[in-house]
Amino acid sequence: MGFLRLFSKTKPKIKVEASKKDGFSGWVKCSQCTEMVHSNEMQENLNCCPKCGHHYRFSAAQRIDLLADENSFEELFTELKPIDPLEFVDSEPYTQRIARAQAKSGRDEGIYTGTCLINERKTALAVMDFGYMGGSMGSVVGERLTRLIELACEKGIPLVVVSSSGGARMQESSLSLMQMAKTSAALARLDNKGVPYISVLTNPTTGGVTASFASLGDIIIAEPDALIGFAGPRIVEQTIRQKLPSTAQKSEFLLEKGMIDCIVKRSELKDKISVFLEFLTSNQKPNLSSSMKTPGSDELEKLKKLLDSVETQKNLTN
Ligand SMILES: [Zn+2]
Repeated sequence: MGFLRLFSKTKPKIKVEASKKDGFSGWVKCSQCTEMVHSNEMQENLNCCPKCGHHYRFSAAQRIDLLADENSFEELFTELKPIDPLEFVDSEPYTQRIARAQAKSGRDEGIYTGTCLINERKTALAVMDFGYMGGSMGSVVGERLTRLIELACEKGIPLVVVSSSGGARMQESSLSLMQMAKTSAALARLDNKGVPYISVLTNPTTGGVTASFASLGDIIIAEPDALIGFAGPRIVEQTIRQKLPSTAQKSEFLLEKGMIDCIVKRSELKDKISVFLEFLTSNQKPNLSSSMKTPGSDELEKLKKLLDSVETQKNLTN
């Protein structure tokens, strides 16, 4: 009878070990290295696998906690709310889609914009929220970001933007696409005024966001193994009818090709942004060993080279 049960359609249920409290034992399997990791350990490690270092998704709120000094973030431009000017309907009306995204994320739009202190330096900070309609850029995202850039320009405070996006929001059609030109034009004014801008690309950053403000930083940083590109790999494969190598459109590949300046682990992101801001605002090379908590000698050499190349570029444009 037991033998027959193996081939029956109703399979015997597998007992999963679970804690009494919440029905979840806390152990998860890393999709990269397949090691078992406890979720507490993963959280303490900023959502990175402690065994292989794989960077898992990190929410926009967690990023603000990571980058901004404690309680220093002040959100701005929240008076701008999404509307549906085109009365767009795809599989559901856009207004319904907005309401669902708002209920799910607890936020009214897909970006946080505001000012904060990063290691005591006043900074304009924008963080895109992938949890809200895939971090897509609609007119509110573009306008909030543009106003932040204009504020940075007016006050002369450096700008840091953390991108995580599937691209322009199709439900707002050309109104979304306009945001690419608008944010880029505002960044050009910021550049003319000599105010530094650091762009941080996280997994995934694609479409109109990569094709506009995310690629315009004075220094462009990416997290390890992040997918960064214009069209996603599936679309590229369908168009060129070839299989892409698994490394294509990843941070490491883009660094090799010169599309980004450096790859920085999440745990070192705040320190390194701080070093870059010190360098870009003071026009003097910072003392790297004292300003970074965990400098490996290889890392220091790479950072020195990067700062040298930025300095050469600055001299060329002056
Ligand atoms: Zn792992």
